[in-house]
Amino acid sequence: MMDTFTFPGITQRVIFGSGTLTQTAEEVQRLGHDKALVLSGPNQRHAAEALAAQLGALSAGVFAGAAMHTPVEVTETAMAEFRASGATAVVGLGGGSTVGLAKAIAARSGADQVVIPTTYAGSEMTDILGETQGGEKTTRRSPDIRPETVIYDVDLTLDLPVEMTVASAMNALAHAMEALYAPDLNPVLELLCKDALVAFRNGLPAVIRDPQNLQGRTRALYGAWACSTALGHVSMALHHKLAHTFGGTFDTPHADTHAILLPYTTAFNEVAVPELLAPIAETFGGGSAGAGLWDFAGEIGAPRSLQDIGIAEPDLDRAADIAVKNTYPNPRRFDRAAIRDLLQHAWAGDRPA
Ligand code: NAD
Repeated sequence: MMDTFTFPGITQRVIFGSGTLTQTAEEVQRLGHDKALVLSGPNQRHAAEALAAQLGALSAGVFAGAAMHTPVEVTETAMAEFRASGATAVVGLGGGSTVGLAKAIAARSGADQVVIPTTYAGSEMTDILGETQGGEKTTRRSPDIRPETVIYDVDLTLDLPVEMTVASAMNALAHAMEALYAPDLNPVLELLCKDALVAFRNGLPAVIRDPQNLQGRTRALYGAWACSTALGHVSMALHHKLAHTFGGTFDTPHADTHAILLPYTTAFNEVAVPELLAPIAETFGGGSAGAGLWDFAGEIGAPRSLQDIGIAEPDLDRAADIAVKNTYPNPRRFDRAAIRDLLQHAWAGDRPA
């Protein structure tokens, strides 16, 4: 039980279920708009065009250029289309890249957002926007970045390839892990995080056996919502900073990077706050939170070594240098040597103790 906390409330409207995509028009109108630009990445253009057709007169067209890490050049092109289209809202259909573009447009124009996530990355419930320009990623938080309405349609996740499914799920679990020791955690989010661990633990094996398994997919997407909600209301620490270091410096794939680092960052911080991370060990077994997540990653076939994503051993020195450049709160104090050691284990793919 927490003796002291602040609960800021959860302000977003969330529609969750199977077949909920059909409610998109109603949700755009509920926000008071009669023209919305539909956004997606290039691979989901077809789905975005189908959604635009479903929206009929409410659609101001499709912009299908969303890209990983929200490059400012892409946002500027999308902004020009948004302005020319006469839209006052955006509808983002896709993974974290598309949600990022919706947020970037909203931050520049005040547009309302209806976002429809199709991965477990978890950007949709947050007030966080990371943007890249000239090879540098900057992140900011602001209330006007948080999407007004989020529609989770389990049906849209049925075709998420298994490889992306498992990496994306580990990405989501990373939000819950760091939320569990966040200084600004509150009892509502704590319950959501614990529920998310169980949802992924129970849901993912069924999805891996049969990617079209609706019950497993429902559990996983529910877990993603819960993890995203946690991410959106607390501060993150070492794990997210390290993942951003690799993504920003070595351009490693976002979800895979989170998946690989998670057991090691968990094991590292577990030394300082074993009681706060106990729900992870209780859910995943393995004798400790770090080992439990490593075992689970193996069971579901998630990548488990930095070598798997093209990191060479000498890169670890550079990553350690960058990771300790800025200071930020973390439950366990660390120096460069400790981070370099953590990265060595993540590179080798050893089972954490
Ligand atoms: P992504 O959005 O780039 O999607 C990865 C690929 O999967 C794309 O090719 C996409 O078209 C495809 N895809 C998505 N859903 C699919 C589906 N259901 N079926 C088939 N293919 C599908 O990647 P991501 O991992 O979802 O998101 C990563 C991005 O999100 C990064 O830029 C990251 O920084 C950002 N992010 C931001 C926050 C935040 O709070 N600001 C949180 C988490 C992630």
